[in-house]
Amino acid sequence: MRATEALIDLSAIKHNVAHAKSLAPKARCVAVVKANAYGHGAIAVAKAITNDTDALAVACLEEALELRDSAVTGPILVLEGICQHESLVLAAKHNLWLMIHNEAQLSALENSHLSQPLSCWLKIDTGMHRLGFTPTDISKTVARLKHSQNCQSITLATHFACADEPDKPDTDSQIELFDRATQSLQLPRSASNSAGVLAFPHGHYDWIRPGYMLYGNSPFQHIVDTADALRPAMQFQCEVIALRQVPKGDTVGYSGVWQAAKDSVIATLNVGYADGYPRAAKNGTPIIINGQRAKLAGRVSMDMITVDVTDIENVNLGDIAVLWGKQGQLVLSAGEVAQHAGTIGYELTTRMPPRTPRRYINT
Ligand SMILES: *Cc1c(COP(=O)(O)O)cnc(C)c1O
Repeated sequence: MRATEALIDLSAIKHNVAHAKSLAPKARCVAVVKANAYGHGAIAVAKAITNDTDALAVACLEEALELRDSAVTGPILVLEGICQHESLVLAAKHNLWLMIHNEAQLSALENSHLSQPLSCWLKIDTGMHRLGFTPTDISKTVARLKHSQNCQSITLATHFACADEPDKPDTDSQIELFDRATQSLQLPRSASNSAGVLAFPHGHYDWIRPGYMLYGNSPFQHIVDTADALRPAMQFQCEVIALRQVPKGDTVGYSGVWQAAKDSVIATLNVGYADGYPRAAKNGTPIIINGQRAKLAGRVSMDMITVDVTDIENVNLGDIAVLWGKQGQLVLSAGEVAQHAGTIGYELTTRMPPRTPRRYINT
């Protein structure tokens, strides 16, 4: 078998769920498993953590139905909500919780005949300006939901735009606005994504909604998690399939974007952009080989990359290389790799394609 694979450590995810909950001990927890659990495999992850969390969240109805088809029976919140009658019927049949973010969704709910009433989460736009009712409309929207026979319960929700940059004042402004819009309503509330859970205790409210951190990643670009509190859940690895000497001055790979500054040793690894390694990764992107950090040398191909291993001891054909994750004590986060590719770790893990098998460990 090709060695290229993503090892998924389910016990690490369980540990990270417990850690998120410990940071917000008074809140309940919706574990976000949208986008195939950020590339980790929604069904396997949902089954592993469903008993450790109060609810799961996905982006859309299709993702929720995939979990129900796989016998995941606990509460599932659909973050985008639903607008069509047939979809609402399915949501009621499968006992889903719905975010409601606009008038079209609200009136569709009011006008449907459903087999049972649904738990409704009302989205309030406190500054993200992507989804949600304006704060001044909340009282009358809540009144309509209370009046609807299709609404079983109401939770008030908002979403932070800048919680991953805790030095900015934006999140506190959003919290203040959320407080002002909701405090007289006496309803459960929810605001915090991972960055909110980690950096804004006064934004925890009654339900936290962590996603990224559950997979062992920090949403902050510039804060190192020295406490080792989060355990990386994905180890993306491949193997050395060729080794060669490259004389000083020669170039490596497409367009010759890497040139040997001295006589060098280049290892070719069987991973490329078709396997989920970002094509935008630049010369110098770190890769772990033999417990040491080597550097990407040359452009990422579809199925292969080339790595400068001149200064790495004892590299052999068949050696395992880690693109992100852990080898021994050495950790290389998806977020760090992403910085070399002009993106964020979220995109790297969620774009892991079907060609790369997920292998579950510590189940
Ligand atoms: C994706 C999402 C989350 C989780 O965000 P993370 O940054 O991954 O923790 C929480 N709430 C909503 C509404 C989301 O769309």
